Amino acid sequence: MRKPTVDHDECIGDGICEQVCPEVFELRDDGLAHVINEEPDESLHDKIDEAIEECPTGAISWAE
Ligand code: SF4
Repeated sequence: MRKPTVDHDECIGDGICEQVCPEVFELRDDGLAHVINEEPDESLHDKIDEAIEECPTGAISWAE
């Protein structure tokens, strides 16, 4: 099962990932994006890939 992860050392909190895929990413009061769905359905994988591409710092990646 692939899991999306956010590297909090890289995240600048612009919220783009949440705009692209709010089912999986949430910007919180700490100013960082958090993964709220660790085992997203296959149907969300394209949107997660889009968030990975759109993230300006490359903070999002897939972990096995
Ligand atoms: S798009 Fe990248 S930098 Fe922006 S909030 Fe999401 S993880 Fe952080």
